[in-house]
Amino acid sequence: VAKTSGGNGLRYFEPAMQATVAARSALENEIREALAARAFDLHYQSQVDESGHVVGAEALVRWRHPQRGLVMPGDFIAVAESTELIVPLGLQVLEMACAQLALWAQNPERAALQLAVNVSARQFRRDDFVEQVERVLAASGANPAMLKLELTESLLQSQMEETIRTMHRLKAIGIRFSMDDFGTGYSSLSYLTQLPLDQIKIDKYFVGGIGCDPKIELIVQTIIGMARNLDVELIAEGVETQAQCDFLRANGCFRYQGYLFSRPVSIAEFESALSA
Ligand code: C2E
Ligand code: MG
Ligand code: MG
Ligand code: MG
Repeated sequence: VAKTSGGNGLRYFEPAMQATVAARSALENEIREALAARAFDLHYQSQVDESGHVVGAEALVRWRHPQRGLVMPGDFIAVAESTELIVPLGLQVLEMACAQLALWAQNPERAALQLAVNVSARQFRRDDFVEQVERVLAASGANPAMLKLELTESLLQSQMEETIRTMHRLKAIGIRFSMDDFGTGYSSLSYLTQLPLDQIKIDKYFVGGIGCDPKIELIVQTIIGMARNLDVELIAEGVETQAQCDFLRANGCFRYQGYLFSRPVSIAEFESALSA
């Protein structure tokens, strides 16, 4: 915790705080090096329909760290987001995802798959974001209709007009949008009618409450009803049990992602599960 020392206005940091600041900047440098070394990789988590058929996947970034092994996004995305590093990182993720889509397009059994890619607000808000996406699509030869961008409600706290305009430009190319972690953000529901969304993703927090908390179940039912009235597709994330899946289906949610179906896995594992 930062403290103010008396009346001279000088601030000093506790040793623990100093260590944290040092650790953050070390991590920042490591991320920079990892970007140069192309040490980031994607794992794929399947998204299934009512009958358990795989309709696509979410791409989730992992860091192949020389000492620490596979590092999860929870350990580096926040630092990348607090710096501009999320921009080059997001670009590498998009490049890997589009390269994968171009390969799937050549296989008739995989050409209908959709790949969802997480986009940070900071990345989305860049003036050149649309051009960046267009460039990656052109360079990879990926079909934009196979790409879905996952946005979070943090985007909706400001600059709504700009956000809507950017989404429309990308939609004109054929890209789809999903609102990730729905219901956990700070935004009002009124934006839902204004955004050109194709999908809403029920956050795993709500899914986790199914079977435990009747109030959360009521929220899930409300979200499902709302998406249906708005004619937006729904998917539930973090589906871990058959009981959760049954509740979702009985209430009108027919797309699922979660450990019940598959954990995020390497591309080799994902593809071998597809052909199994
Ligand atoms: P998210 O986009 O909401 O992704 C879902 C997270 O839930 C993933 O964690 C996934 O592994 C986990 N998950 C999936 N099914 C289950 C389940 O059944 N139970 C539980 N408990 N968890 C489940 P992961 O891979 O650690 O990613 C965490 C977050 O990091 C993501 O949350 C996303 O916000 C961010 N992230 C991941 N990849 C990227 C990326 O390429 N770019 C950006 N900007 N953010 C990313
Ligand atoms: Mg996501
Ligand atoms: Mg999510
Ligand atoms: Mg979530």
